[in-house]
Amino acid sequence: MFDFWRRALVFPLTLLLFSMLLWAAAGALPAALFFGVFLLVRLVFHLHQLALLDYWLADPDARVVPDGAGLWEEVFARLNRMVRLHRKERKQHTAALQHMEQATSALPEGVAILDEADHIEWCNPLVEQHFGLDGARDIGQQITYLARQPEFVQYLAMHDFSEPLVLRGARQDGLTLSIKLIPYSDNKKLLISRDITRFERIETMRRDFVANVSHELRTPLTVVNGFVETLLDMPDLENDTARRALQLMGEQTQRMERLVNDLLTLSKLDNALNALQEETVEVPTLLRALHHEGQSLSGGQHALRLELESDCNLLGNTAELRSAFGNLVSNAIRYTPQGGEIVLRWQERDGQPVFSVQDSGLGIAPQHIPRLTERFYRVDHSRSRETGGTGLGLAIVKHVVNRHQARLEIASKEGKGSIFSIVFPAKRRLPLLAAEVT
Ligand code: ADP
Repeated sequence: MFDFWRRALVFPLTLLLFSMLLWAAAGALPAALFFGVFLLVRLVFHLHQLALLDYWLADPDARVVPDGAGLWEEVFARLNRMVRLHRKERKQHTAALQHMEQATSALPEGVAILDEADHIEWCNPLVEQHFGLDGARDIGQQITYLARQPEFVQYLAMHDFSEPLVLRGARQDGLTLSIKLIPYSDNKKLLISRDITRFERIETMRRDFVANVSHELRTPLTVVNGFVETLLDMPDLENDTARRALQLMGEQTQRMERLVNDLLTLSKLDNALNALQEETVEVPTLLRALHHEGQSLSGGQHALRLELESDCNLLGNTAELRSAFGNLVSNAIRYTPQGGEIVLRWQERDGQPVFSVQDSGLGIAPQHIPRLTERFYRVDHSRSRETGGTGLGLAIVKHVVNRHQARLEIASKEGKGSIFSIVFPAKRRLPLLAAEVT
């Protein structure tokens, strides 16, 4: 700074000194003329340097920074250094961005960045393929303007991205996408799309196969079972061995029938096209019936109690809920030794309706609990078979629970007993109608 002023003041002070000497030697007018002319020359020089700067600023990328002269030389030199540094940094940023773009292009998933109003800020080629976009043309467009499927628009508007959206028949025919949205800073969202068409096709084939096999087995099994029962009922069947063999055949065919029925129930619940048929489920009435059925299943071997702490109803499907609740009651009876206690409870927790079955039975060790709802997962194989279990009961419960956006809670202590609870979302709670209260 000091150096600048020292150099800047050399010329005006020297000019002033010479003008004063001239004044003393030749008078005021020649001195004033001398001073004025040199000041004008200096002004023209500075204006020229300014013009050079202005020329460069008009197109800094294409032109070189002027060399400058006098005081301007140092200023332009500094500017030149700044420009070179800036260009180097820009090159590095561009290279890093290209690197990122190449990496995201190689991803097996579509990736796009959406702003707070769902405009596409950037996307990789796979997103272009999945949604039928043209990167160059569609950047900046609102994504719902380009992908208009109602489920997708609704998903974006919901702002609940905990579960991915399965979008069938996206832009390209027959394409099924799994779409996940991840919100991040400044209300932006990362959209990740995955092509699951092949996976879905295999899943559908698997589901159809199980449903078809179960369906095909049903009729022959009913016929065989019918004959076995008829033979057993024949009064002249005296051979004990034959009677015993027929009894065993009867038990096994009935077991197979239960299995086939449970598999068919699961297939129906599993079918994406089979939407939940909603109606008013009169839960207290349903539970009274289940309590009654439970008592006859127990055959007086357990103390079975029904506690109706709430009288609310549910928005759901009666047949599905009957099957889920019934499975929990039947499990409690089957896994509780004689003399045990079982309570069926209907209550509300923080506005959420809850159905629970508490038993004083065998209980379940903690390591088994996360796997109980898997198909054919059994803790105690022999007890499950002895009591007519198929290993599919809790899998059915899980499906029904999911279809009602509810959750299954399992609390258990080995040797002490278990509590299986189904917690429904508050939106499914239906208060009693005035007519029903009176
Ligand atoms: P299963 O037909 O074998 O009962 P489920 O799917 O209904 O099949 O249950 C899976 C397993 O969970 C059972 O085999 C049993 O070991 C365990 N289980 C279910 N309910 C209870 C319960 N109330 N008490 C103890 N164990 C249970």
